[in-house]
Amino acid sequence: MLLITMIGLGWLLGPRTPAPPLPPELLGPDPGWLARAERLGRLRRGLSLLNLAIVPLALWLFVSSGWSAALRDWLTGHGLRSPWLLVGGFTILFVTGLTVLTWPLEYVALLLRRAYGLSNETSAAWLLRQLKLLAVTLVLTLLAAEGLYWLLRTLPGWWWLPAAVGAVLLSMALTYLQPYVITPLFFRQTPLADETLRAAIQELGRRSGVPIGEVYVIDASRQGNEGNAYFTGIGGATRVVLYDTLLRTYQRDQLLTILAHELGHWHYQHVWRALALSALTTPLGLGLIHLLLQRLLPSWNINTPADVAGLPLILLLITLGSYAVLPLQNALSRHWERQADRFALQATGDVAAFQRTFADLARQNLSDPTPPPLYEAIFATHPAIGRRVSEAATGGS
Ligand SMILES: [Zn+2]
Repeated sequence: MLLITMIGLGWLLGPRTPAPPLPPELLGPDPGWLARAERLGRLRRGLSLLNLAIVPLALWLFVSSGWSAALRDWLTGHGLRSPWLLVGGFTILFVTGLTVLTWPLEYVALLLRRAYGLSNETSAAWLLRQLKLLAVTLVLTLLAAEGLYWLLRTLPGWWWLPAAVGAVLLSMALTYLQPYVITPLFFRQTPLADETLRAAIQELGRRSGVPIGEVYVIDASRQGNEGNAYFTGIGGATRVVLYDTLLRTYQRDQLLTILAHELGHWHYQHVWRALALSALTTPLGLGLIHLLLQRLLPSWNINTPADVAGLPLILLLITLGSYAVLPLQNALSRHWERQADRFALQATGDVAAFQRTFADLARQNLSDPTPPPLYEAIFATHPAIGRRVSEAATGGS
């Protein structure tokens, strides 16, 4: 049923024809990378499908086998009688277990990136990064779970409404704090040192009406060769972030193209739009979960939604719900990426630089420029690079 929804929505909303291949003149001096990118693309797609199946399967097993109720009993038996302590203890153990379960596949992904020369991260550095990620996840889920179960205890019929407000506020706070709190845990950020490039960027911002707070460079080369850039933050905290891997190999007109694309996201206020959209959809989703919980919990020996043993079931419903709307969400994301692409083309007026940039990014990151259209429709947040390059020729339309 879920699979049919995903494929149906993907077919309706996504591309139905394969992305056009990159023109040969953009492949660079050694076009052999294309076959490697396609091979890696197939492996990565298989891995991501496997990854997608593991978490809901584990959640379902955990709650339906009675382990969830057994963990709650065990914690209560060990003195965690206050609901706050019980929710905290359960969340820490459960989320840690679930996260560690995804590590083997994450590690395989690292081995792949290493084998294809994309990563130079050691296993120890990888493990440290996973532990940091786990710590961030634990802090956030503890906060969310304590809030959620407090609401479930005090407002059993209406918890989902304030919970939705809380979830949206939390994601706003995270969007604001991410560059200050989360990014520094993983990378070192420094203001862009190249004065002439900085001036060119500021000038580009002025011409296209986007006030640029600051341009930062992160030391992504610590982890590998992949290049990227992004626009982040809301309010006074907006900033453009460039990977240092881009600064090494890309020419100025290419860097300006990448930055102009990021400015396009600011111009169209995509961060705010995404937050507004989640403010609309989160109450609907949680309301639906409220209805489903009342039907499902009794059959799994969990008496009330306020019982923390139901947490895996709540997570399962959230996960399956997010899968169902994935094609919709990604269709919107690809639409926004196209808007940013068109904005970049208008701001720079340089189609050739745009095409060279994206072909070079595909080569540097070994990303398959022509993935299967149905996969692109369901899972891709960005249009295939083959599509972006060919659409640029017609002004990005
Ligand atoms: Zn973008």
